Amino acid sequence: RAKTSGRSVYRFFEMEMDASILHRTLLEQRLRSALAEDEIQVHFQPILDLASRKIRGFEALARWSDRDFGHVPPNQFIPIAEDCGIISELTDRLLREACRVASKWPEHMFLSFNVSPVQLHDHTFPLKVMSILADSGLSPDRLILEITETSLFKNPRAAKAVLEQLAEARIQIALDDFGTGHSSLGYLRDFPISKVKIDKSFTLHMEDDAECAAIIDAILVLAKGLGIETVAEGIEQPAVMAKLTESGCQFGQGFLFGAAKAAARIDEMVAEQGSGATMPYARDEPSG
Ligand code: C2E
Ligand code: MG
Ligand code: MG
Ligand code: MG
Repeated sequence: RAKTSGRSVYRFFEMEMDASILHRTLLEQRLRSALAEDEIQVHFQPILDLASRKIRGFEALARWSDRDFGHVPPNQFIPIAEDCGIISELTDRLLREACRVASKWPEHMFLSFNVSPVQLHDHTFPLKVMSILADSGLSPDRLILEITETSLFKNPRAAKAVLEQLAEARIQIALDDFGTGHSSLGYLRDFPISKVKIDKSFTLHMEDDAECAAIIDAILVLAKGLGIETVAEGIEQPAVMAKLTESGCQFGQGFLFGAAKAAARIDEMVAEQGSGATMPYARDEPSG
C-alpha cells in the first residue's frame, strides 16, 4: 500500500511539473513572438530630486501584456528572455525606444535603464550602447545604467571591463536593489559606481521596522563617505519622503510621485516641471 501511495505522489509531482514546463514553454513562445512583433513596451517612472521635489529623470521599465497570459511582470519575463537567449535583442529594442523618448526631455533630465547581468559579460555591449545613443542624439552623460550586485558577483573581471568602458564614455552606473544581494561593500570602490538605489523592501518598511530604518541610515552614511549619490525606491508615504529627505537621500521614486506610465502619458508631467511645480502635485491631493 505504501508503494502505491508513493507512486501516486510521484505521479502527482510529475503532472505538476509537466504543467509548469508547458506553461513556461508557451510563455517563451509568446515572448519570442512579442519581441518579433515589437509588442514589449517601455514605461517611465519619475525620479525626483528630494530636496526640491522636482523630476530629475525617469526609470524605464519594461511592460508586456499578452493576449492569453494578460499582464506578465518583468520579474517573470526578463529571466525567461535571459534563459532563452533573446535578452540582448530585447535590451537593444527597449534601450533604443527609451533613448528616443528621453532625447525629447529637458536637458537636466536623465534616463535610468535596467541592464541584465548577461550584458555585463558581453564585451560588445558598450559599443552597442554608444551607437544607440548616437542614433537617438541623447548625450551619454544623461544615461544611467542600473545593474545589480548579483551581476557583479558572477564574473567581476568581465563586468569591470565593461563598466569601465561605459564610465569612460561618461555613462553613469547605478547599483540597483542595494542591500539585497551579495552586498560586498568593496564593489563600491572596485567598480565605477556613481549611484546606489536603496531597495524598496527597506523603504516600504522603514516606518514600522527599526532594522530597515537602520540599514537605510547606514547606506546613506556609507554612500556619502564614498561620494556616491543615493536613490530610494518604493516611496509611497509623505512621511517616508520627509524622513529620507531629512536624512540626506538625494533622489527618490515611488507611487507617491507616480507609477511607470507610457511615454505619451508623462509629457504632461515633464511640462509641469518647466512651470516650476513640485511633486507630489497639490492638485492630486484631496481639496478642502
Ligand atoms: P527595479 O529595477 O528595482 O524596478 C523598480 C520596481 O519597483 C518596478 O517594478 C516598479 O514598478 C516598482 N515600484 C516603483 N515604485 C514603487 C512603490 O512605491 N511601491 C512598490 N511596491 N513598488 C514600486 P517592475 O516594473 O515590476 O520591475 C521589476 C523588476 O524587473 C525591476 O526592478 C527590474 O529589475 C526588472 N526590469 C524591469 N524592466 C526591465 C528592463 O527593461 N530590463 C531589465 N533587464 N530588467 C527590467
Ligand atoms: Mg531598476
Ligand atoms: Mg530596484
Ligand atoms: Mg527590484
